[in-house]
Amino acid sequence: MPRRRRRAALQVLALGLAAATMLGVAGAVDGAPSPSATTEPASAPNRDLPTPLVDMTISRRSEDPGRTVNLTIDDGPDPQWTPRFLDVLARNGAKAVFCMLGPNAEAHPGLARQVVAAGHRLCDHSVSHDTAMDHKDVAYQQQEIVDGLRMIQDATGGAPVPYYRAPGGAFTPESRQIAAAHGMRPLGWNVDTRDFERPGVEKILETTREQLRIGPTVLLHDGGGNRTQTLQALEQLLPWLKAEGYTFSFPQQ
Ligand SMILES: [Zn+2]
Repeated sequence: MPRRRRRAALQVLALGLAAATMLGVAGAVDGAPSPSATTEPASAPNRDLPTPLVDMTISRRSEDPGRTVNLTIDDGPDPQWTPRFLDVLARNGAKAVFCMLGPNAEAHPGLARQVVAAGHRLCDHSVSHDTAMDHKDVAYQQQEIVDGLRMIQDATGGAPVPYYRAPGGAFTPESRQIAAAHGMRPLGWNVDTRDFERPGVEKILETTREQLRIGPTVLLHDGGGNRTQTLQALEQLLPWLKAEGYTFSFPQQ
């Protein structure tokens, strides 16, 4: 093959591989973890290239070794429910990531600060909770992510926001890049309790116990409706986790 044509063929192959890798990562958001989604960053960063502040692959693993669980609590803060979540977590010595919607943090800055003061971590969960965000243009995604972050930072007086979770897990390669450029690691989950559907306390517990075999990061909600079932499930789940030898950790940043 002439050299020029061979080079062109190699370029097409490289582009195809890059696209396949991106699709593989983006498509793995809601299902079981894929190896590519949890790949560690290279240990020796290339000094010639700008390195993102954080890894832009989707985080699901714990930052601590051993039998761990990462609680993640979405869609608040909510004045009716969030204080009760803080209470059950404190009584059980558990920590969580609170994935806040910007306007909710803006409306309840005292609650957002209480979350930080109790030692929990913050996650930007966008402005509008648009679960079709992955079908919208990049400018829209940027605005949703960056405005959400700014609202949470304003409410908390500039507390660190180390994670970004797309509404409904609707990540795109671009949204992961935007999050990383603002110091936030994209945050996924392993255990989908579907607590927002209010399937019953027993069902939430059963789903959690089953899916913890997949991985440590559990998705729960303190906003978006009546969260009595989630709270009742946590009252049982947290002591059970401790009895089973789990420790409470955070997803890798
Ligand atoms: Zn949500």
